[in-house]
Amino acid sequence: MAALTVDTAVAAVRGAAAQAAAAKARAASAAGAGSVRFEALAKTYQSATGAVRALEDIDLEIPAGRIYGIIGRSGAGKSSLLRTINRLERPTSGRVLVDGQDIGRFDEDALVELRRRIGMIFQHFNLLSAKTVRENVALPLVVAGVPKRQIAERVDEVLALVGLEGKHNVYPSRLSGGQKQRVGIARALVHKPEILLCDEATSALDPETTLSILKLLRDINRSLGLTIVLITHEMSVIREICETVLVLEQGRIAEEGPVWQVFGAPKHDATRALLQPLSRDIPEDIAARLVPQPVAGGETVLELHYTGGESGGPDLSRLASVLGTSVRLLHGTIDRIQGHAQGTLLVAARGVSEDDLATLGGHVGSARILGHVATDV
Ligand code: ADP
Repeated sequence: MAALTVDTAVAAVRGAAAQAAAAKARAASAAGAGSVRFEALAKTYQSATGAVRALEDIDLEIPAGRIYGIIGRSGAGKSSLLRTINRLERPTSGRVLVDGQDIGRFDEDALVELRRRIGMIFQHFNLLSAKTVRENVALPLVVAGVPKRQIAERVDEVLALVGLEGKHNVYPSRLSGGQKQRVGIARALVHKPEILLCDEATSALDPETTLSILKLLRDINRSLGLTIVLITHEMSVIREICETVLVLEQGRIAEEGPVWQVFGAPKHDATRALLQPLSRDIPEDIAARLVPQPVAGGETVLELHYTGGESGGPDLSRLASVLGTSVRLLHGTIDRIQGHAQGTLLVAARGVSEDDLATLGGHVGSARILGHVATDV
């Protein structure tokens, strides 16, 4: 009898705590929730071979509603950082604040509530193979004790949102990779979270499916105002949907900023190394004909690099008028990232010298003479 009384009292306290946490979450949500702040964060793992410093000196703010990408080589600390946001990983020192609340101080109830506010999707989807799509998506609601009818309504809603109507009773083994990730996304959204963490969410998918999943994530970000934090080793994923990118190197911040700026004019060697596979080499036929000295009657081959910060982007007629000679486009690629044109162009022009390159400031990010050619290439 006494035990029953104690249990009842504990349950009442826990219920009150959960209600208070839920009220806090609702208040945060009303204030445009979904911001994350890292303060002097560090994480050291103790392993059999000694201490591993996975994260150091992380001071960062992820504003609510942002699509925020984290890149870095393998072992740079991406996963560790992502997992501190829902406290799957506890920092060794420093703080993580979600909507201004220090999550390191959360008790069990507040932690449960936090994890409902933060959905997560994974590279290998983490679906239960013995359960149908409907059951997989419903699971977090079942665990939370939500009434059956509400569960059915919410599952219908999220499956429609991710474009999986009609797949309710299918088992995961009958789904494509893209469909499995859609189930993962539906399950992550079932509690109406304010933050979605994506751990290499498209790494197991082919390029076309990757694009469709990224489009879905962008749509969700826009329609629900959800903050999305993703880690990836695919630069194309960052370029496709992220607004801000953080580059981690050996557990520290190498650089952070708008994607068009960081990708257009990387400041850190780690960023340049990660972007290397995206930069194109000079085509072989052009390289074979380049000579170091100007050739009478020949042309100079220039490499023009656009970082996205120049006024107006690439404009060949303007370039010709600045150089005072006609300019021929030989080769190149210009991408648009967040409305900024960036990339590299190879052009041929007559009578251009190193001194002329200085006149190009403001029109191109940087320019260099690759060499000279005797005849038209
Ligand atoms: P990334 O996601 O960029 O590959 P991680 O965050 O997984 O990097 O790992 C960062 C560093 O921490 C690596 O050196 C990794 O080996 C180490 N590490 C990660 N998790 C553990 C763990 N549970 N125990 C020991 N070392 C770990």
